[in-house]
Amino acid sequence: MGMPPAADRPPGDADRMLTADHLTRQFDARVAVQDISFELRPGEILALLGPNGAGKTTTLRLLAGLIRPSSGQVLLDGVGLHGLDGTSLRTRIGILTEAPGLWDRLTVRQNLLTYARLHGLPSPSRAVDEALDLFDVRSRAGDLAAHLSKGLRQRVALARTLLHRPGIVLLDEPTSGLDPASAKEVRALILRLRGEGRAVLLSTHNLDEVDRVADRVAVLRGRLLALGTTAALRARFFGERLKVTVAGDAQQFVSVLGGSSGVDIVRADGPVLLADGAAASAHAPEIVRRLVAAGADILSVHPEHVPLEEVYLHLLGEGSTES
Ligand code: ATP
Repeated sequence: MGMPPAADRPPGDADRMLTADHLTRQFDARVAVQDISFELRPGEILALLGPNGAGKTTTLRLLAGLIRPSSGQVLLDGVGLHGLDGTSLRTRIGILTEAPGLWDRLTVRQNLLTYARLHGLPSPSRAVDEALDLFDVRSRAGDLAAHLSKGLRQRVALARTLLHRPGIVLLDEPTSGLDPASAKEVRALILRLRGEGRAVLLSTHNLDEVDRVADRVAVLRGRLLALGTTAALRARFFGERLKVTVAGDAQQFVSVLGGSSGVDIVRADGPVLLADGAAASAHAPEIVRRLVAAGADILSVHPEHVPLEEVYLHLLGEGSTES
């Protein structure tokens, strides 16, 4: 039997690749991140979500050992980063920063070759050739970096991040500002990294992207507000959702469903009734009976995913009462 996906397994020692252990980082009096703890496991994509200034970039930089925590520590396979030398850190971790710079006056190949040599790779030329193929940029190898489109620059920057085949990959908004086709290509690359068993931490503002690729989500606003699979976060805050479409305005039927078993919240949006609750789907027959008895002409009944955006905004709203 194959291994279940990393997100469904309890964390074991072998899974503990990169650990944030009560991380706090202050910049002068400003606390950028406070008491953050989580583990990044092999073969998973963990999405880091949070509003501007929530501390996502700070967290990534802490995890890559680019800055030191004010308190707490980062552990790589159980060993504190401060105890590791720079070379072993760089070998294990690849980070794509928010605005990755390429040397504009060098060609794509020269950019990658410089990095391959900096990393001390045994066959820099071969590693670059492989990366050019892998990222589908071989035909542009001779182009100056200055002449690349934004999407291509990002692909080359990703190729550079992954040139030395790090097991842990930290990506800061890798699809931000890319057109839909380029963003899709980058997402496909990220999924491939997971397929290769690497641990990927992805900071993004794109909730649809999180829904498509992430195994788990960490929601951050200075503190960690929530951590879990998207399914678990949905279930925690909304349970299941049943979407019933009726002929005409659904508002008149909201009160009909009040007190139905398995349903906690009912709201109407035009002809659509949304019933959220721990067991909304199981109670679909009762819900339909009640609506028909109240004179509703039902056009369709579907169980539905609560949009991640609703979960996220709910979390941030809830978090604001804490701070
Ligand atoms: P965004 O989504 O806008 O990229 P973010 O979640 O990545 O934001 P950070 O860039 O980590 O957030 O910033 C968190 C907080 O720490 C902000 O208030 C920011 O101003 C502050 N901060 C980050 N880096 C520094 C620094 N080098 N010096 C001073 N303050 C900093």
